[in-house]
Amino acid sequence: MTATTIDGRALGKEIRAELREDVQRFVEVKGRAPGLVIVRVEGDPASGVYSKAILRIAKDLGVEARLELLPADISADELHAALVRLNQDVTVHGVIVQMPLPAHLSQKMVAETLAAEKDIDGISPLNTGNLFLGFPSFVPSTAAAVMEILERTKTPLQGKRVVVIGRSNVVGKPLSLLLLQKNATVTVCHSRTTNLVELTREADVLIAAVGRPNMVTAEMVKPGATVIDVGINALPEGGIVGDVDFASVAEVAGAVTPTPGGVGPLTNVLLLKQCIEAAWRQIGGRPRP
Ligand code: NDP
Repeated sequence: MTATTIDGRALGKEIRAELREDVQRFVEVKGRAPGLVIVRVEGDPASGVYSKAILRIAKDLGVEARLELLPADISADELHAALVRLNQDVTVHGVIVQMPLPAHLSQKMVAETLAAEKDIDGISPLNTGNLFLGFPSFVPSTAAAVMEILERTKTPLQGKRVVVIGRSNVVGKPLSLLLLQKNATVTVCHSRTTNLVELTREADVLIAAVGRPNMVTAEMVKPGATVIDVGINALPEGGIVGDVDFASVAEVAGAVTPTPGGVGPLTNVLLLKQCIEAAWRQIGGRPRP
């Protein structure tokens, strides 16, 4: 193996230590902790696990977080009213609504109702528009996690060829815009891309956000490239693998994230980072030293 393994858990620990201090500063200034609410409409068992993981990190950082569990048969009007109430609650600085929602509820309504300043996972049209325009905005936390990895590993982006495989609203699309902001030359690939290998072989930085086990193999990677694996794929025989065939790619790449232990551990940490940032913005910013 020639590549450096990018240790997401170690980076997560480093960021958490910084955030703990930031939360303490907030408490000193405001007399109470930043507040986070996770809204979960019952029905999807997987999102229960996800909520618990966020609550655990929040507790570790000193963020006041709670789960608002709503019944699966809640009406659109009732969900709307619950979100309006959270928008108005000054003790709540960040809100995330767990997806997927039951079929009778619209993700569009949620995105349009949530106050942009509390929308810490960047789903609202205002945050999305600001990201498009290159203005400060909250962004989907997985995209933020990938950018944080690239920044903390000092991976050069300016003028570099970056290929993103995947164009979803939660990962590929926001990531491509964030990379453009860093002056990378960005190519976004998807299921209809015809010359994928040709494109990926040119990438100085290759990011896979597809959801296909081990699809990125050594021959798709430029020697020395940085490879970031966003994919999380549960195997029928048990265990989790990424979109990147780690063993073979590590022979060619310069640096690569493992799965598990790469992007995954950072996603919720970045969600909390955006919540703490939201809290500061809502009280008028950090005090000058
Ligand atoms: P989506 O299914 O929404 O998007 C997948 C993308 O991959 C689509 O743009 C699709 O193209 C593209 N794609 C599918 N097949 C191919 C192919 N053969 N060649 C090239 N592109 C292809 O997934 P998400 O973006 O939500 O998630 C991607 C992966 O990241 C999943 O494994 C998910 O579990 C993981 N994930 C990890 C997170 C983390 O914290 N690490 C958080 C969120 C997601 P098209 O648009 O044409 O259909």
